[in-house]
Amino acid sequence: MVFTATAGDSPSKPTTPDTGTRFRTGASGLFRDYMTGDQYKSDTEVVAGYSLAFAKTVEIAAGDGKDAWVFDIDETLLSNLPYYAVHGFGSETFDENSWDAWVDLAEAPAIPASLKLYKEIKELGFTIFLLTGRTESERNVTEKNLLFAGYSSWDRLILRGPSDGGTPAIVYKSEKRMEVEAEGYRIHGSSGDQWSDLLGHAVAKRSFKLPNPMYYIA
Ligand SMILES: [Mg+2]
Repeated sequence: MVFTATAGDSPSKPTTPDTGTRFRTGASGLFRDYMTGDQYKSDTEVVAGYSLAFAKTVEIAAGDGKDAWVFDIDETLLSNLPYYAVHGFGSETFDENSWDAWVDLAEAPAIPASLKLYKEIKELGFTIFLLTGRTESERNVTEKNLLFAGYSSWDRLILRGPSDGGTPAIVYKSEKRMEVEAEGYRIHGSSGDQWSDLLGHAVAKRSFKLPNPMYYIA
């Protein structure tokens, strides 16, 4: 069973505009059991399996370097479960200060299935774009965290700049994908834990949704 997050109880207060509007999804006990049990691990493995199966069908244009795959970061490549475990698994109102302190630690571990997929996608010859709602001010800690978790050799890390300020995630990510396509890249695959990572404009030929019952980003 693959969970998809929906806005459950009443929306919590929005985060900074920079990270989009985030809603609590409630039911913390259920989500704790899911996130810390075998099912989440197994679901991420299933998604990674489908992703790789598709990736292998893509004909990579030799020498062109324009065949691309887009990954979101949080709850897609990196797991913030250590943070959410002490913050009610998403049931608490989002707290910007404690979240920022966690991000600054740069110690979020990899989601194992995603790390394996990332390496396989890289190996197949895709150009890798990391497209995140994190901001430019978090570039250094984000790079540090990715390396800490075992990710390396991405081609471009795209973060929210000052001009992306209050743009909803789905619009921001669409705009960035359109810019990438305008450079001649062909976005074959996209991986994210939010629908706002995957839908909108310049969508990938195939999109792969990871489970995340803890929060929802519009
Ligand atoms: Mg995410």
